[in-house]
Amino acid sequence: MGSVRGKIRLLWGRLPADKGVLKETMKKLLLTLVLGSLTLGARPATASAAGSSTAKYVCLIVLDGGKPEYITSRLNQLPNVKKLMQHGRWYNNAFVGSLMSITPPDHLVIGTGSFPKNDGGVVNWDWGLHSTGKISPTFQAIESYTDNYAYKLIKSSGTPTLAGMIHKKYPKGIVMAGSGAHFHAAGPMGGPDANWIFAYQRSNGYWAPFTISPGRPVPKSLLNDPSLREKMPSSNDSTVPFTYDPLVLGHQDSLVMKFATRSLQKYRPRAMLLNLAEVDTVGHWSMKWKQEEGRLYKAFDQNLGQLIAAYKKAGIYNQTLFVITADHGMIQSKNRVLDREAVVNQIKSTLGHKSIILTNGGGSAGPTMTSIWLKDPANNERMARAIFAKKYDNVSAIYYATNTDGHYQYKMAGCTSCSPALVNAYNYLMSTDAGPTGEDIAILLRENARNSGMPEMPGRHGGADWGSQHVTLLLSGPGVQDGTSNHPARLTDLAPTIERFMGISPDARDGIVLADAFQSPDPADVSAQNASDTTLTPIVTALQARAAGDIRLEAAGKLANFVPSDEVIIHWKRRWAVTIAGAVVLVGTVIFLAWAVAEVRRQGTGLKWTA
Ligand SMILES: [Zn+2]
Repeated sequence: MGSVRGKIRLLWGRLPADKGVLKETMKKLLLTLVLGSLTLGARPATASAAGSSTAKYVCLIVLDGGKPEYITSRLNQLPNVKKLMQHGRWYNNAFVGSLMSITPPDHLVIGTGSFPKNDGGVVNWDWGLHSTGKISPTFQAIESYTDNYAYKLIKSSGTPTLAGMIHKKYPKGIVMAGSGAHFHAAGPMGGPDANWIFAYQRSNGYWAPFTISPGRPVPKSLLNDPSLREKMPSSNDSTVPFTYDPLVLGHQDSLVMKFATRSLQKYRPRAMLLNLAEVDTVGHWSMKWKQEEGRLYKAFDQNLGQLIAAYKKAGIYNQTLFVITADHGMIQSKNRVLDREAVVNQIKSTLGHKSIILTNGGGSAGPTMTSIWLKDPANNERMARAIFAKKYDNVSAIYYATNTDGHYQYKMAGCTSCSPALVNAYNYLMSTDAGPTGEDIAILLRENARNSGMPEMPGRHGGADWGSQHVTLLLSGPGVQDGTSNHPARLTDLAPTIERFMGISPDARDGIVLADAFQSPDPADVSAQNASDTTLTPIVTALQARAAGDIRLEAAGKLANFVPSDEVIIHWKRRWAVTIAGAVVLVGTVIFLAWAVAEVRRQGTGLKWTA
């Protein structure tokens, strides 16, 4: 009984002073206790029951920037996804659950179950280093993987990785990670412990796979397989600029899925951790967003069908856990901006021209929040308050980092029309970055707002906004409970949940096991999820409320949508036209000069050397 009282006290400590919530929580607690005892009573041999439903293989597919509605709005066109959903668990309120909703940090969160503050400090593409006053190496550079920087950084943090945990149970099992263009997704997700990590690049006129895990080469039989590469086309048959999607729309992701199918046939990996990059590219760049995401998803569904057929043919389909998820969402925003240049100028005029190490790691494109690293963190609070006082358009909240003897924390400088629940939600998200690499000042934006910069790119993500935070999550496989869950599952929860499904004791630092995905959940996992539910549901509700409120205000024309004059929109077609015109002039000049030289040679100048 003592433990039950302890449990109640623990929950009591977390309860907000709201009687409705209180009642609801007490109900849930009672239900948990009753269900827990029922489970214990009815199933004394939990281990053997779980044993029969243990997944021996896992196939995790990250649709990069995959909003849940990409699936739910066209489910009838996606028969293979639909089948998995009918025999699987779909999470309505799944969210990133850590501050940065961008590709490299979130793939590392998926691959470790740890928050950025605990996984090596990967809070962004790159970040400011106070020790040197310089910018860290960037996760956006292929060299960061081919020279092992990224893998060493993750390893040195001591965070357990999903690949490493699978190896504990299956020392000889192969864990493979891969992507098309997004080496910065496959690298962090596979991390230092995956056996093989591949990505694709242009090579001798082909889009071809290559190894991005030095010392852990992907087999040549896969890299050299002619069916797993494609000749570079002359057009990508989409509204996405050719630079960003180098193959015909859908082919890049299809090659990754084919690579997975072939790997399965040849090597039967224990785990395949795949990133499909085009979903993100289309979200960022397409001028026909819905239509082109539709084409991608239909192609994905066909490829998924082929992969599932290969699992069936290999005789291991019934032993395989499928996880389909996304690293972040996406918003489209043209007009509602935070004038980032003005903020930067304010800091420079207050603290001096060289006072900033970095603004938005790797984010010249302007994600949906602003991160600033100052040279001297002693200025954090003063500067954050001064920026908030300026009342820039579309700011939701501003935070600054404090460091007391190595204890990092974020404090709020101000919040614009925020409920206590929203402040609580922001406090939670900020805490996931609270470490030596975390930004000194964070500017969180209202829903559907972006930083100024690169106005020709319509799609954005990156911050605490619900559009960027809300992600796809579907689990299907042996022992998975069918149906829909409203639990706010997070990316940190994926690694421990997969581990539990595979019969491995989870060791993640920040995530929990999603107990409601199991037909026979572990009672301890059920209590942990219930406690997590009590904390996270109000957080997700507050983020959703901020989003809905802002969208209403926007529709009523009540939110500022002033675009700064230095943000001149140059459409990519016009940019190409200017480039081509320049090239024509250049080539013309060269031809003329060559002709002139030839004429002079032929006719002579009529001049003579007179010594
Ligand atoms: Zn991404």
